[in-house]
Amino acid sequence: MKIAVTGGKGGTGKSTVATSLAVEFARKKKTMLVDADAECPNDYLLISIKLKKYSLVLQPIPKFDFSKCNKCGKCAPICKQNAIVFVKDKFPAFVKDVCIGCKACIVACPNNAISETTKKIGTIYTGKNYNVDLVSSELKLGELASGEVVSEVRKKAEEISQKLKSEIIIIDSAAGIGCPVIASLVGTDYIVAVTEPTPSALHDLKRVLYLAQHFNIKHGIVINKFDLAKNFCLKIESFAKKNKIPIIGRITYKKDFVDSTIKMKPVVEINPEYKGIFQEIIKKMKFCN
Ligand code: SF4
Ligand code: SF4
Repeated sequence: MKIAVTGGKGGTGKSTVATSLAVEFARKKKTMLVDADAECPNDYLLISIKLKKYSLVLQPIPKFDFSKCNKCGKCAPICKQNAIVFVKDKFPAFVKDVCIGCKACIVACPNNAISETTKKIGTIYTGKNYNVDLVSSELKLGELASGEVVSEVRKKAEEISQKLKSEIIIIDSAAGIGCPVIASLVGTDYIVAVTEPTPSALHDLKRVLYLAQHFNIKHGIVINKFDLAKNFCLKIESFAKKNKIPIIGRITYKKDFVDSTIKMKPVVEINPEYKGIFQEIIKKMKFCN
């Protein structure tokens, strides 16, 4: 079973929920956690895992052979990333950092002066703690293609999970609803949408649930920091009721979360009350929708 943990707005506690769910699932089932927040991976810190490099994420980029180039300039306007700068009577200049590897320039060159090479855009790591097998992604600083890195970490996680015979795969997505988030949600069986009682979180929750409905993936809402604004929670609950979306968890906020981060220990291992809350979420995930 593949479960994506997402929510839209950053800072709602997606990684805390993903890591705690993974630790609770791992008490009974072979569990893998995939950190698909390639721009800001932090699951390894929350469950204190020493990462080992597994593989590199490479992206195709063009390689220019100026001995074949007649300075026609056709490669520059075709590049929607403006990664090729052309000045009349000069060879084209290539700005590697903004190239997304679409290969349009290779197709456009009439003289076969452009071939293909690769650049590193990210790294995949693995590790293990609390019986949870972690596969983590990391986008190289300055690179743009986090969606590609997420697709790659999903691919590698699939390979590794087959070898390890993982029964549960939890995918911790990035914030937002963009390309990296879509790459995290595709092919999952259930979406845990983590939110908090604030207007911006509710706004983003609606957008993320729109995606869940679009992809026809079962889903439920977890309200994190539930007790900090109980009145606003009524708005989330009425939205959920109106749209027939189950609320599968309400997590109260205590100093234990600060201790969890400082000690790099999951909150379910710090306070048994949270163990109960996350076990309850797991139960509701199975039976709702
Ligand atoms: S591969 Fe695509 S993005 Fe990269 S330089 Fe060529 S046209 Fe531009
Ligand atoms: S399209 Fe090919 S031949 Fe023309 S400027 Fe670009 S690299 Fe040179």
